[in-house]
Amino acid sequence: ELPPVNGDFYDLSAMLTDEERALQLKVRHFMETEIQPIVNEYWFKAEFPFEIIPKLAELNICGGTFRGDYSFVMEGVIAMEMARVDCSIATFFGVQNGLAMGAIHTLGSEAQKQEWLPGMEQLKIIGAFGLTEPEVGSGAAGGLTTTAKRVGDKWVLNGQKKWIGNATFADVLVIWARDVDDNQVKGFLVRKGSPGFSVEKMHDKMALRIVQNGIITLKDCEVAESDRLANANSFKDTAKVLQMTRAGVAWLAVGCARGAYENALAYTRQRKQFGKPIASFQLIQNHLVEMLSNLTAMQTMVYRLSQLQDEGLLEDEHASIAKVFCSLRTRDIVSRAREVMGGNGILLEYNVARFVADAEAIYSYEGTKEINSLIVGRAITGFSAFV
Ligand code: FAD
Repeated sequence: ELPPVNGDFYDLSAMLTDEERALQLKVRHFMETEIQPIVNEYWFKAEFPFEIIPKLAELNICGGTFRGDYSFVMEGVIAMEMARVDCSIATFFGVQNGLAMGAIHTLGSEAQKQEWLPGMEQLKIIGAFGLTEPEVGSGAAGGLTTTAKRVGDKWVLNGQKKWIGNATFADVLVIWARDVDDNQVKGFLVRKGSPGFSVEKMHDKMALRIVQNGIITLKDCEVAESDRLANANSFKDTAKVLQMTRAGVAWLAVGCARGAYENALAYTRQRKQFGKPIASFQLIQNHLVEMLSNLTAMQTMVYRLSQLQDEGLLEDEHASIAKVFCSLRTRDIVSRAREVMGGNGILLEYNVARFVADAEAIYSYEGTKEINSLIVGRAITGFSAFV
């Protein structure tokens, strides 16, 4: 009898409470039974499986940390479990639960929270987060060109946003724009269908194809002062949201690597060449062990990362170092997973090719390796090397 296929080599789940472990298994069951059977087809078509939203809502996990239902460690475990089966669904959830709801929870007024968060928790209201622009990605902190002009009790927004996840169907979009009067970055809750707001789906992505990314155009788009994120006064406030979500992306990278590793391990144990399972060859075992070593280091890192978050001790550089390390090591793990599967490693149906592609997007979004490295570099040296 062969040992179980398990990417949690140090049994880090043992650090969770019984209730948390049960929730982890519930999310895993949902992903394996509702998502796994349809995921390759939707990924290939580059469409979103809207029919899963009510079933995902039934898990009652959206907004769990904001309600105080569970810890950031648990939120990370959920992201990992989702990404272990599919990184697009995990990203959809991360945009909703992290970027969009996180911005409203962290920076919204009481009235804004009451208006949006309950419906968003039930996934009846879908959110998006629009920071990146066609010409401004890494340099968003000082370089946003989308403008906001206060006119009476309204704001008028002009500009474009690119890569915005969920944008094609979102009901509410957190849009970041520069106030032309005080030159500070502010956040606006733009409602779907607002005059002057339009969105176009981005096509032909080679990664996270289920995620519906959009290019948004704002042309004299009017937003009421009551829909300006009340406590977002400068990019420093935007960064508070990004710190939290970057920690989530580190977990998502771990899930991506874990999914690829577990699929590859299972495959090598049953695939035979030269009359023997390929898993019995030393060179294949070396790949598997190096994958598992990195995966174990990554998991240990993100558990502690989220403990810091739960203790209120998380700094930007803590989230950034984990995002860099995990997304970099994930790229190595998924490529080895593909390698040990030979030709089948590039076929969608063998469930590793998708992880190889998706790892590329995870590597670049929520701050590239360079930008997150510069955040850590600034923290440890005292010198900013951004410009
Ligand atoms: P650029 O900023 O043009 O960078 C190109 C290269 O230059 C990178 O390697 C970068 O690291 C490097 N570079 C830049 N500046 C420096 C420097 N100072 N020193 C050294 N190297 C540097 N954005 C949103 O707002 N909302 C979303 O929902 C969203 N979803 C996304 C989903 C996907 C699938 C992807 C791919 C992106 C998404 N993004 C989203 C955008 C994402 O955050 C940006 O792609 C990312 O910030 C990088 O910006 P960029 O692509 O414009 O690259």
